[in-house]
Amino acid sequence: MSTAPAASLNGLCLSSSHLRQPSSASFRPSISARLGSSSTSPSLPTLIRNKPVLTTPAPVINPVNWSDDMSGKDYEEAIEALKKLLHEKGDLKATAAMKVEQITAELQSTSSDGNPFNPVERIKEGFIHFKREKYEKNPALYGELAKGQSPKFMVFACSDSRVCPSHILHFQPGEAFVVRNVANMVPPYDQTKYSGVGAAIEYAVLHLKVEYIFVIGHSACGGIKGLMSFPYDGSSSTDFIEDWVKIGAPAKAKVLSAHRDKPFGDQCTNCEKEAVNVSLGNLLTYPFVRDGLVNKTLGLKGGYYDFINGSFELWGLEFGLSSSFSVKDVATILHWKLY
Ligand SMILES: [Zn+2]
Repeated sequence: MSTAPAASLNGLCLSSSHLRQPSSASFRPSISARLGSSSTSPSLPTLIRNKPVLTTPAPVINPVNWSDDMSGKDYEEAIEALKKLLHEKGDLKATAAMKVEQITAELQSTSSDGNPFNPVERIKEGFIHFKREKYEKNPALYGELAKGQSPKFMVFACSDSRVCPSHILHFQPGEAFVVRNVANMVPPYDQTKYSGVGAAIEYAVLHLKVEYIFVIGHSACGGIKGLMSFPYDGSSSTDFIEDWVKIGAPAKAKVLSAHRDKPFGDQCTNCEKEAVNVSLGNLLTYPFVRDGLVNKTLGLKGGYYDFINGSFELWGLEFGLSSSFSVKDVATILHWKLY
């Protein structure tokens, strides 16, 4: 077994060990930032706590099915690129300094109670609280969940940290199979471009047999603001975001057509809701979703959470067998709005 030498640069140490094992072996690449005056010192700085946190084993990447010319290569290339970046003399000091600054800032940032924020302590405390207050108090529930899951909902929600569906709708473990992404988009059926979302929908509908797919938009959505702001004139300023939120382009077009004279903020609010309808429409491009709707084993719901006013809207998608329907025609009046 060979161990790649650690790149030790200007007090910042990056080590990638066990990189060249056979593809059938497990390997545990480790990257550690070391802040110290001596780049060769084996001791960890006081800023970095080097002790076990939880009893769970360290994460293992086990590329048993990787062939040498596929993902494993990509992975090793990524590691090599990272090492190369750290070896490059020109930008190295700036890179290292930036890293040090970032780590220091993280360690020095304070939580709301005024104490320095410690991510490890936060995670530990969170899990201990969950285990003591939820897991150990609900043995029947967690005993059932240990055997399997049978959620009634599949939920699409935004990655936004303020809109966790389990939090705002009080979903209990086992109730909702959740996909979260930027701007809660459901892309159209595409086996190559959107296989991640497709796999989740396929699994939820065909294997978990969820009864509803529920797409939830929300107020002040950064993804929708991006969709409404990006020019889409051939220029691009992001690697992924513009292309991803473009899934909601029909919503943008509709809003710009119907609300052209309204302030940008109002247009965004409208687009946040219209994009949900576009996602509901895109769900119809998945054959197993269509089958579920026709057989009435599956329903589609749209929702909108306004965290500024503390309200929630819910609407349904009436599905007819007409081949000429459009999303605009089938998305119905709001069922209710709760303040
Ligand atoms: Zn959002």
